[in-house]
Amino acid sequence: MTPFVLFCGGIAVFYVIYRIFLVGVSAVTLEHGLESPKKSNVCVADDTRLHDPDVILSDAYQKRIQNQPALSSNLIKNPTLTENGLNAGEPNYYNHGVENENTIYEVPSDTDGAPFLRVTDIKKDTSQDDRPTWISDMVPIEPEKSYDYGFSYRSDKPVQVTMEYLDGIGGNEKGHYRDIGALQPSSTWQRFTAHVDDADHILAFRVGATTIGEGHIDTRAYDVHQIPDAKLKQGMVSITFDDGWESVETRAKTLLDKYQFKASFYIISDVSAQSVDGYMGFSTIKHLKSAGHEIASHSLTHCDQTTLTSQQIKDNAEQSKKTLESQGLGPITSFAYPLGQYNKTTQDIYSKNYTYIRTSDAGYNDRYFDETNIHSMGVLNATSDETFKSWLDFAAAQHQWVVLVYHRIDETGKYSVTNDQLDRQFALIKQSNLQVLPLSSAAQSAR
Ligand SMILES: [Zn+2]
Repeated sequence: MTPFVLFCGGIAVFYVIYRIFLVGVSAVTLEHGLESPKKSNVCVADDTRLHDPDVILSDAYQKRIQNQPALSSNLIKNPTLTENGLNAGEPNYYNHGVENENTIYEVPSDTDGAPFLRVTDIKKDTSQDDRPTWISDMVPIEPEKSYDYGFSYRSDKPVQVTMEYLDGIGGNEKGHYRDIGALQPSSTWQRFTAHVDDADHILAFRVGATTIGEGHIDTRAYDVHQIPDAKLKQGMVSITFDDGWESVETRAKTLLDKYQFKASFYIISDVSAQSVDGYMGFSTIKHLKSAGHEIASHSLTHCDQTTLTSQQIKDNAEQSKKTLESQGLGPITSFAYPLGQYNKTTQDIYSKNYTYIRTSDAGYNDRYFDETNIHSMGVLNATSDETFKSWLDFAAAQHQWVVLVYHRIDETGKYSVTNDQLDRQFALIKQSNLQVLPLSSAAQSAR
C-alpha cells in the first residue's frame, strides 16, 4: 500500500481505493480506506479554494533585486532618521500609519547610536484590520522605470509588508493598498527587498511593516532607488492544465494542435499511476510528452500541502517527481501547489526539488520573477473573453509573462471551461502575438 492512503482520504484517493478494492486487496487496507474519508481529512478538488496564503518572497528573489546596479540615489527622504524638528522630535518625512490607544510609536537609538522606528502594538484586535506602522512620505515613480525598495527590520512576531500606492487609471489619482509579503520574526536586523514599476499605473508608493499579532517591530534604512528595467524582451504566455483530467486529452489537445501551442500539464502522480476514472493515465500523458508538451508535478494525491507533516511534504515532492520521471515523462522541473496553498515549510522543501514553483497567486511575471512563486491567472467558466483578452493585452503592452491555469473542459463546476470558450481564448492568444511557451521554457527565456 502506498503511504498516501495513510494520510489522504480525498475524492481522487477514494477512487484509487475503490479501484484497488476491485482488483482485490487485504481487508485491513480496505477498512482503513472506507472508514477514513472524514471531511477534515479529504483532499479536495480545486473547486473549493481555501484561504489565500501569505505571499513569501524567497531569499533568492530578494538577493537578485539587491544585486541589481542602482541607477539613482535613494529617493527616500531622511533615510538615516537623523533630521528632525518639523514634528516634535520625530524624524522628518515619516508619519504614523494608524493612531489608537493600543499603539506606541517611538524613535529609540540602537547600541551604535543610530535611531530606528519602533511600533509596539499592546492589544492587537485581530477582528480589525488596523495596521499600525511607521510610513515614509510617498515616493513618485517614473513611467517605464523599475525600482528596488526595501528596509531593515527586526520583530518578535511575523511581519506583514503592505504597499500603499496611488494610481492614475482614467486620470483619477486614487489610493490603494496591496499585501506584498509575509516575513519571519527575527531578533536581529534583517533586510527586506522587492521591486515595483509602473505596470499597474502606479504613480507613487510607500511601504509599511506591521506585526501579525500583538508585538513590536523595529524598522530603519528605508531605501527606494531605480534599477534596470524589469520588462521582458517581449510578452509571453504559458498555458497550463492542472490535475490531469481526461477531458484535457479528449478536448484541449485537439485545440492545442490546431493552434500549434505547447502547454504544461501538472499531474497528480498517484492518481495517474492508478488509472483513476476521469483522469489521464501514464500512456496518455506519454503522448502529450512526445508531442512536445511539458509534464510537471501537482503532488502525489492533491492534498493541501500545508496540512501535512514535513516528511509527508518531502514524500510528495520527491516521490511525485520520481514517479513521473520513471515513466519517461521527465525531466520534471516544475511543480504547482494543489489548491494553491503553500507556506514557508512547503516552500523550503519544494524549492529544493523543483526549479520552478507555480502558485495560484494572481498576477503577471516580469524579468525579476521569483522562480519559487510564479504568479498565474486561473481561467474559470465565468472568465469572459473580454477579461481574458485584457490579460493578454496587458502582457503584450507591458512585456510581461502571463501564466494561464486551466482544469477541465466541457465538464461541471466553475473550474471547467467549455470547448468553444477554449477555442475562442486560444484564437485570442494567436492574435495577441505573444510568445507561447511551456512554463519551464518561458521561465528560462524570461531571465
Ligand atoms: Zn489541482
